[in-house]
Amino acid sequence: MPKLVVVGSINMDLVALAPRFPAPGETLSGERFATFPGGKGANQAVAASRLGAEVVMVGCVGSDLFGRDLVAGLNKEGVDTRHVHTIEGVASGVACITVSGAENNIIVIAGANHALTPEHVAAAEAEIAAADVVLTQLEVPLAVVAATAALAKKHGVPLILNPAPAVHLPPALLDEVSYLTPNEHELSIVMDAGSTPFPDMLERLPGKVVMTKGEHGAYHVAADGTFVHQPGFTVSAVDTTGAGDTFNAALATYLPLGLKPAMRMACAAAALSVTRLGAQGGMPQQDELDAFLK
Ligand code: ADP
Repeated sequence: MPKLVVVGSINMDLVALAPRFPAPGETLSGERFATFPGGKGANQAVAASRLGAEVVMVGCVGSDLFGRDLVAGLNKEGVDTRHVHTIEGVASGVACITVSGAENNIIVIAGANHALTPEHVAAAEAEIAAADVVLTQLEVPLAVVAATAALAKKHGVPLILNPAPAVHLPPALLDEVSYLTPNEHELSIVMDAGSTPFPDMLERLPGKVVMTKGEHGAYHVAADGTFVHQPGFTVSAVDTTGAGDTFNAALATYLPLGLKPAMRMACAAAALSVTRLGAQGGMPQQDELDAFLK
């Protein structure tokens, strides 16, 4: 059982289904409403736990009903929430999503996710030191990501940074990261590389980047310059929400087997996730992944 620490966001997704998008100032009768647990950190923690990893989550929720439900949901998924803090007087992170037909509008409000501090990460130093892999994303403050990277490095634990939502990252932070897992668009933002073709971008950070590219799978240029392509698995895609989160969780879970086998497992798990609706709803269990690969 690989041990993971996930440092990241925990959100409630509030989804309203409407016949069309309301115009400014308009009130519209919607068709349906539902809430789904989300946030890249929590999604990746849940996906890894379903794949059999022992997962400690480091994050923050607000002192509201969403926060209570989000922590309960993580516990139910077998994620260790001893380092999930409830911040008094702050709202839990939410994503307000309006869906109309195949299109959506989303407003993300970070809320308690922005109350996560380097001190919260330091409080989980023992768990980080004992982990096989540490996984983080960019929905929490950059100072938290930097503190996580520094602690992982101090203890010689590989760190995967999923740079989403993408921002240009300082070279000093890139140095500290073991693996960066952007999609093509995110890689260009992270490196400030404009429309540079992706093989050139990968070559600029040899050994570091595992780039996802939807149904095409994942690409990597090894430290010795070898170009690695793990093709995507052919499935009939229903909903690609959460594909990236499942990919990252599986990559972290299987990284102790080596990067190439982990890329294969990550593509397989992510392919399974797109055959089903929802972010966490689509994430496979370990036995489903094993059966898919037989
Ligand atoms: P993101 O959702 O972060 O943009 P991608 O779209 O690149 O990320 O998808 C992440 C991974 O999910 C891909 O590397 C691939 O393995 C898998 N995947 C995504 N879409 C499909 C698809 N249509 N068919 C099979 N695998 C897919």
